[in-house]
Amino acid sequence: MALQVELIPTGEIIRVVHPHRPCKLALGSDGVRVTMESALTARDRVGVQDFVLLENFTSEAAFIENLRRRFRENLIYTYIGPVLVSVNPYRDLQIYSRQHMERYRGVSFYEVPPHLFAVADTVYRALRTERRDQAVMISGESGAGKTEATKRLLQFYAETCPAPERGGAVRDRLLQSNPVLEAFGNAKTLRNDNSSRFGKYMDVQFDFKGAPVGGHILSYLLEKSRVVHQNHGERNFHVFYQLLEGGEEETLRRLGLERNPQSYLYLVKGQCAKVSSINDKSDWKVVRKALSVIDFTEDEVEDLLSIVASVLHLGNIHFAADEESNAQVTTENQLKYLTRLLGVEGTTLREALTHRKIIAKGEELLSPLNLEQAAYARDALAKAVYSRTFTWLVRKINRSLASKDAESPSWRSTTVLGLLDIYGFEVFQHNSFEQFCINYCNEKLQQLFIELTLKSEQEEYEAEGIAWEPVQYFNNKIICDLVEEKFKGIISILDEECLRPGEATDLTFLEKLEDTVKHHPHFLTHKLADQKTRKSLGRGEFRLLHYAGEVTYSVTGFLDKNNDLLFRNLKETMCSSMNPIMSQCFDRNELSDKKRPETVATQFKMSLLQLVEILKSKEPAYIRCIKPNDAKQPGRFDEVLIRHQVKYLGLMENLRVRRAGFAYRRKYEAFLQRYKSLCPETWPTWAGRPQDGVAVLVRHLGYKPEEYKMGRTKIFIRFPKTLFATEDSLEV
Ligand code: ATP
Ligand code: MG
Repeated sequence: MALQVELIPTGEIIRVVHPHRPCKLALGSDGVRVTMESALTARDRVGVQDFVLLENFTSEAAFIENLRRRFRENLIYTYIGPVLVSVNPYRDLQIYSRQHMERYRGVSFYEVPPHLFAVADTVYRALRTERRDQAVMISGESGAGKTEATKRLLQFYAETCPAPERGGAVRDRLLQSNPVLEAFGNAKTLRNDNSSRFGKYMDVQFDFKGAPVGGHILSYLLEKSRVVHQNHGERNFHVFYQLLEGGEEETLRRLGLERNPQSYLYLVKGQCAKVSSINDKSDWKVVRKALSVIDFTEDEVEDLLSIVASVLHLGNIHFAADEESNAQVTTENQLKYLTRLLGVEGTTLREALTHRKIIAKGEELLSPLNLEQAAYARDALAKAVYSRTFTWLVRKINRSLASKDAESPSWRSTTVLGLLDIYGFEVFQHNSFEQFCINYCNEKLQQLFIELTLKSEQEEYEAEGIAWEPVQYFNNKIICDLVEEKFKGIISILDEECLRPGEATDLTFLEKLEDTVKHHPHFLTHKLADQKTRKSLGRGEFRLLHYAGEVTYSVTGFLDKNNDLLFRNLKETMCSSMNPIMSQCFDRNELSDKKRPETVATQFKMSLLQLVEILKSKEPAYIRCIKPNDAKQPGRFDEVLIRHQVKYLGLMENLRVRRAGFAYRRKYEAFLQRYKSLCPETWPTWAGRPQDGVAVLVRHLGYKPEEYKMGRTKIFIRFPKTLFATEDSLEV
């Protein structure tokens, strides 16, 4: 442990200043000892570094007080056993340097102050020594610091792991995939200036020497509605502003773009093109460079930019009604650029934007669209073009990250470390289909979290030969079933309604829901509610009682968003595109495929089930991120906001499970090493087995039988006060 030593000789005692744990260095006649400076005072000031050491572990107030004390001291990390709780400091604490990385390498989890790098290193060592795949799951609400944590972890591995024998470029690619994905998938929202608008799971593959040799990304549900609409104070995806600010004159001329974001309807709705914390111009440079690192040719970059520009042009397409109220395109210039950039026929595109093709009795009919329908078709096209390009981008990055050694025998011996950075639980004033999907995702992950934490507790007790005491906990399976069950679940009912075009509406969906799940304890609507609750529910709403709290969803738009249909002739037009990226995004087979594509909710459900299987097959580690205030400001600890997060992240429950048996456990070697000075028989060295040494030591310390148990490799201590008493007796 690296200590700053401040030489203030006070008798025989020299003060040692450690940034997180004040210590004393005692020069005794029998040697040098480093001990905690008055452990009691330190605890008062900086709290405990593991919540399991809280005396009053069921008290939420004590939990929050501990967080507050640590936050005040800029100690943003605290454990619940192996789980890392992190509070966003909203300031650069200078704690992620190369030096910090080194400090946490190869040391035991509990011997150093809690840190993201301690988790990073523990996970990596388990991967190497046990050769088991690992998954780090990072959760928390928007702005809590998930993406920052993911980036720091990647950086840790990129900098500290050995370089692979071949294909060293993979480290750069892993790092450089980030700015590209962020440009296309992140946006400024009211909650976060760099909010990820998609879920991400990234695998990093390591060879048998522990060098990163490849990677793979899975992305989840991009919030594509943002392409055409942003709330006040929010922006579209970063890439649009970056291109306009940072693109070269020549490029913009080719794309037919003006620099000013105000010229584009898709960029003005939120009325905040400029954000003080964001430098679009320099970000664009980073993205351009990153694109070449991840194997984009100059042609591919051009094709990609053509698509970005065409979305902006699409937004500026205007319609006017002719005498029969049919929509006509009035913005010829935009149409001209679109035709060129997308490589499609002008007349075909014009027709597709203003007509709908219907196939009736084997015959094709063109039905003209009115103004509203044409605007809808235009926006649908913009969303489809953008979101499919995003999917393409992920595929392209994956090709670049794919291990070049995939065919060689050593491939089989790779191990995988997964990083999950996925949207947290969301409750807004107005909640729609997107929040429904996101919150369902959180239910699934919470279920997995509970299952795995309990399972690992149980396994540890079994492995150590200690009787397991079952813990009562809330199992949220009932809510997951309510959403995903076949035939009776909300998604099934929604899909059923989506199969009745022309007849079904958002409201018939709600009625069907009411009929099918009326007596469910976690489901409520205006009709089903009692007199008192009814007032708080609108007629077009349903309420789910999630594990994290109640959320009321408006059904408006559910059918449409779930169907996600693009008029056939728009699809045909895009399938004929000469832009190579577009032609990969819109496949002709889609046109002849008679089978209905899966709905959005069902696709999402299937991808989540797959994600859960991936995560289950790995050794889990957890980082639970907390946002301290809504103002994005350093030093502000908003207790109400934090209490809410502690609740819905299930931290109290997590702590209860962890504390159900024993508050504290430690390997015999580590325990003996730390406390052997307290017993003349074990100090300065113990010659026998560490386990026997610990037995002698605790007998000497007067531990009562009910206070501890001896497992196969670890001592388990039931109450924190036992440990604190021992810690305090280290006092010189
Ligand atoms: P979202 O769900 O919206 O994507 P998020 O949880 O990914 O949110 P981040 O983008 O990681 O949130 O963090 C938001 C901002 O908070 C960052 O841009 C950064 O300014 C600040 N921040 C987060 N973590 C840290 C940290 N460890 N140190 C300093 N600043 C941080
Ligand atoms: Mg994020």
